[in-house]
Amino acid sequence: MNTIEKFNENVMATYGRYPLVMESGSDVLATDENGKEYIDFGSGIGTNSLGYCNNDWVDAVCSQVKKIQHTSNYYYTKVQADFAEKLTEAAGMEKVFFGNSGAEANECAIKIARKYSFDKYGKGRHNIITLVNSFHGRTVTTLSATGQDVFHNYFFPFTEGFIYVTANDIEDLRAKADDSVCAIMFEYIQGEGGVNALNKDFVDEIFRIAEEKDIITISDEVQTGVGRTGEFLAGDNFGKKADVITLAKGIAGGLPMGACLTGKKCSSVLTAGTHGSTFGGNPVCCAGGLAVLKKAADRSFLDEIKKKAEYFRKGLSAIEEVSALSGIGLMIGITIKNKKAGDVAKSCLDKGLLVLTAKDKVRLLPPLTISYEDIDKGLKILAEALSE
Ligand SMILES: *Cc1c(COP(=O)(O)O)cnc(C)c1O
Repeated sequence: MNTIEKFNENVMATYGRYPLVMESGSDVLATDENGKEYIDFGSGIGTNSLGYCNNDWVDAVCSQVKKIQHTSNYYYTKVQADFAEKLTEAAGMEKVFFGNSGAEANECAIKIARKYSFDKYGKGRHNIITLVNSFHGRTVTTLSATGQDVFHNYFFPFTEGFIYVTANDIEDLRAKADDSVCAIMFEYIQGEGGVNALNKDFVDEIFRIAEEKDIITISDEVQTGVGRTGEFLAGDNFGKKADVITLAKGIAGGLPMGACLTGKKCSSVLTAGTHGSTFGGNPVCCAGGLAVLKKAADRSFLDEIKKKAEYFRKGLSAIEEVSALSGIGLMIGITIKNKKAGDVAKSCLDKGLLVLTAKDKVRLLPPLTISYEDIDKGLKILAEALSE
């Protein structure tokens, strides 16, 4: 039995997978079991932020795994302390809770917002505004938070208490932000929803209403955070910092890690016994995260991301079949004129390039360390796939 047959016989069919068995990787290149190489413009799904098997990251992870691979959160580890210190500093936040995924980071944020409100105002002020077309995860509660009807099937009853507002519709936001609301949760750039950035005016209004009504702001930066946009946090592009910020995907360079960060307002909401995670803050993942932060929290590295993004976008704009670009920095949505995004992704794969899709767009989340030479190589293949 080959790998794909064995896989399909034993793993649940929750993904439509490409017939490609990944075996190894180096920088931007992934290699399949037949030795065919692919330039990866998706870097996992933005998870392999330093590319495949970056030397500094491998060294950090390997030396940690040889020391101690895990210990329960009833004890302390130095590497978790070091990572927490660097992360809160880079994000300009006070405290962090570590989980293992984006959904878990968002669960934590939701619990914080509801408990903040319960502690201060008592019951009944539990609703959370999220945006239409958002994506917040796959647990029953984060599916509920996700403002897309396609995700609200089969698993009834969903968690109550989410109200959906149309992104960039200030009137809708004003109408729905009533006294039952404890939090507004949003992505600065909706990733899975189609790589659509919020308008500055709308973001300003979220923060204005939140301030006025003591509503907690939660920015889901699971996809946009840790340097992706050329700023450490996407919120920095809007000059805003939410009360609670969630990170995951690229934070540990491809190891499972989620982080929920709090500012002054929410840092002491969760107390002993109110939240937890067996694996959260795992030493090996923290070591990987530290290797990522050594680069992604550095101003010159972030400026380099901005330059690469500009170069990338210029190259894309020159392709005839491209009609518009969206997103910020190295989070890129490509609107194409006549082709279907899924067909383009398939054709790119055949030609040795991996791209993602989001709704009707081709989506790129290349490694933050990508070289100009590799951008050129990948763009050439993408242009070919788009022109055939
Ligand atoms: C991917 C994603 C999530 C979910 O992360 P998981 O690690 O799959 O649980 C949540 N929010 C956003 C914005 C995401 O892009």
